[in-house]
Amino acid sequence: MTDSDLKRLDEAIRDVPDFPKPGILFKDITPVLGDGELFRLAIDAFIETARGAEVTQVVGIDARGFIFGAAMADRLGIGFVPIRKKGKLPWETEGIAYSLEYGEAEIEIHRDAVAPGEKVMLVDDLLATGGTAGAALELLNKLGSEVVCATFLVELDFLEGRKNLPTDVRVESLLNY
Ligand code: AMP
Repeated sequence: MTDSDLKRLDEAIRDVPDFPKPGILFKDITPVLGDGELFRLAIDAFIETARGAEVTQVVGIDARGFIFGAAMADRLGIGFVPIRKKGKLPWETEGIAYSLEYGEAEIEIHRDAVAPGEKVMLVDDLLATGGTAGAALELLNKLGSEVVCATFLVELDFLEGRKNLPTDVRVESLLNY
């Protein structure tokens, strides 16, 4: 990924102030999705972070992690596993509650979605406080999977979300703010 490609992605991401609540600067990635060339560039960059790691499954976080994760899995010719918000998955689940900036949230994964020893890559659009990704990594740990890396299109450095992720997981972000 060249600097000019990264710049194009950076310029396409739209800052929306005070969404979904006052004081939050929302990073809207939909312009990247809506442009075929930029979407492909983003997937190329995601794939690069997995190079040499023999990933066997991509795990995406509800909901924008599904979009990037599914495209990556298709490109790599491997399976995709969704981690969903509580109450959406129909089969037996493993769940975990975690704290958000305001209040609590809970995410779930199907118990049989990832076999022990699978080499998975975790994907989401954005790393903010790290609460969501940290909980997702804990779920994957419970299922006995080996997390090769956790990858994000955007990382909000000032929130120091990396500090909430286990130190033994490689964390990659394509754009840092
Ligand atoms: P966190 O658990 O704080 O790391 O938040 C990560 C999740 O919330 C990701 O799934 C993001 O899609 C979403 N998110 C948090 N903050 C923002 C933001 N400023 N702009 C866009 N999405 C965000």
